[in-house]
Amino acid sequence: MNFVKLILLTIPFYVISDEIISIPKAKAQFNIDKNYTNFEHHKQKVKDYYEHQYHNDLQEICQNALLYFLSIKRPENAVIIFDVDDTVMSHYHFYKEKNFEWTVKEIHARHHQLQSKAIKPILEFYIQLIKNKFKIIFITARRSCLKKATYQNLIQEGYTNFEDLILFPIELRDKGVKAPVWKANTREEVSKKYNIIGSFSDLQEDFEGGHTGKCFKLPNYLY
Ligand SMILES: [Mg+2]
Repeated sequence: MNFVKLILLTIPFYVISDEIISIPKAKAQFNIDKNYTNFEHHKQKVKDYYEHQYHNDLQEICQNALLYFLSIKRPENAVIIFDVDDTVMSHYHFYKEKNFEWTVKEIHARHHQLQSKAIKPILEFYIQLIKNKFKIIFITARRSCLKKATYQNLIQEGYTNFEDLILFPIELRDKGVKAPVWKANTREEVSKKYNIIGSFSDLQEDFEGGHTGKCFKLPNYLY
């Protein structure tokens, strides 16, 4: 194994920034201390990040990830797992329009209306993966009743080639099963048929429970 390969195999591709506080953290601070004046300042920092640095950071993560996937010995039936919301698809402009004061109900309505937008650097990376004959599975905590809408929205936005799209069954959500637990169990099921070589998500808890392959954490300062 050469030195470059060794480095690629050992570095975690996490983006960690101390400079930006997420919207909920800034809001919580605002609610605790009404004299806290930085909420608007942090909203502006988040806007600056998403409109200037976000895509650069994603490109860097994706470039490293592609080098990594091309450098490893690919096992038989290798597959890469992607989360959907704020991993491959975005509602950033909607959040911004709402001044970051949105409801889950509004987001669900947007999911039904196929209004999620592809995140460009991730889409470009996805296209490279498909060209290199990698298999992709999407696992999302969206409710299973959204399967048709999510499938159509992914296709409409350019994610046209994937092995499977797996959504969180409503009955499990109703029983109180937590999304990261369901995702880990789902990856375990997927592992019976495929070799998972990598996982991408904007939320750290999506990597809990194993069966992830190499983890690629993407930035999220929105929630
Ligand atoms: Mg997500």
